Amino acid sequence: MRRLLLFVSGALLYLALLALNQWCLEPGSAESAQSALQRWRTLPGANVPHPLGSAAHAQLGEALERHFQALPLERAHQKTAAGLTNFALRRAGTSALPPVVLMAHWDSVAAGPGAADDGAGMSVLLELAERCAKNEAAPLRSTIFLATDGEERGLLGAKAFFEEHPWARDGGVLINLEARGTSGPVFLFETIGNQRALIATAQPALPFPAAFSLAAEIYERMPNDTDLSVFRADPRWHGCNLAFIRGLEHYHTAQDNAENLSGASVAHMLESAEGLLEAWQREAHTPQGREPAPHTSLWGRVLLWWPARANLPLALTLCVFAVLMLRSAWRAWLGGWLALACAALLGWLCQRMGLESGVVIAALGLVASLAALEARAAVALLAQLTLLSALWLPAALPQAALPLLAALLGEALRRILGRESGLWWLLPLAVVGMAANAPFLLALEWVQGSASGVAQAVIAGLVGLPWAYFTHTTLYTPAKPPSTASPRAGHLSGP
Ligand SMILES: [Zn+2]
Repeated sequence: MRRLLLFVSGALLYLALLALNQWCLEPGSAESAQSALQRWRTLPGANVPHPLGSAAHAQLGEALERHFQALPLERAHQKTAAGLTNFALRRAGTSALPPVVLMAHWDSVAAGPGAADDGAGMSVLLELAERCAKNEAAPLRSTIFLATDGEERGLLGAKAFFEEHPWARDGGVLINLEARGTSGPVFLFETIGNQRALIATAQPALPFPAAFSLAAEIYERMPNDTDLSVFRADPRWHGCNLAFIRGLEHYHTAQDNAENLSGASVAHMLESAEGLLEAWQREAHTPQGREPAPHTSLWGRVLLWWPARANLPLALTLCVFAVLMLRSAWRAWLGGWLALACAALLGWLCQRMGLESGVVIAALGLVASLAALEARAAVALLAQLTLLSALWLPAALPQAALPLLAALLGEALRRILGRESGLWWLLPLAVVGMAANAPFLLALEWVQGSASGVAQAVIAGLVGLPWAYFTHTTLYTPAKPPSTASPRAGHLSGP
């Protein structure tokens, strides 16, 4: 009965933590975005498909022209022979530093009105241009608002700006706003140029960060492009790409409409873009060169990053830790060598592919494997979960490392305080519930793009429950008492 109660309470706590974690990944209030959305939606042509060359496109272009005329900002719109119009506005800075550019595209695909792609980005851009124009104090860095055209036809507007626009001459820092879906948190899913400078600046500036360096490293190798891709190869440009990706089934369809667009996502985009924009407006240091900075967000509250040169020491520390764990059993030695070989292979592959975060992950995999072999089953299972999490989304290293540490802590507490020491095991489980499933949920999201938050929590809960159960039963099943069987006595009395 006691075991059942413990199991049920543990399971409930586990689910509650999953729900909490899920809640942490939900963007906040939708209200702050309402006026921004309203401004965009009242423009004629914005609520119907407006691909380049269409009548709605021409109508929307005229409306934007009129809208921008009313703003007290410098204008340098760009019209090309191909019928493209890039809208470019500037608030001059007090310094000669390269500008910060907020970018979104105003065209849509023919299949749908593009309420999210890129109506969301445009709503935010119009709102922040308005706020910037009203702000009495001029920014340190010149601030450009760039609404590009023809993104859906192959980044045409961005290319024209990059190649021909006089404001693009000095390079600068870009913040690009995109959508690949209609809801969900806004991810900082790509950086170009000096990642270290961009992430270090974003760290205090993002009120609700969602970012994973490995996702960025993988994205870089995918054929997908946004306007930001145009600037990638030029060392004068540095930039962040922001997008929400839930509701992927609506992407580039008629369902990318006002009804399906999440106001909360637009609100998250607004506060993220504003945070980054303001941070760069006052940033006196201009990034140089390319420095990777592995990073991950934790529970939507913290953006954790470390310099890439810490990867190897970090990996080596984990290896030393792993070796220290190798103790008596020959099984552990054999398993240890196998794990070491696997980790080395994984590390080598990551290195070959240039996946900065992967080297650390390989070492973590080694620790997890050894923990699985060496320690008791509870730790073993949690270590496997750690490994699983790490494999799903390795950039979430700190999240993946936490369950392992928590499991070890739980095991230590159990040994020190004894088997019947109450609910100590809830502590590691609590951390696991919070940490391990964050990358798991995000991985699901990344893969499916469509599962609702509740569905994801349920799936993760179903996957997680057996772990919770095993953890509990392993820690609370009394160990077999040392064998005091009688045959021994009988044997002794034999001939
Ligand atoms: Zn787009």
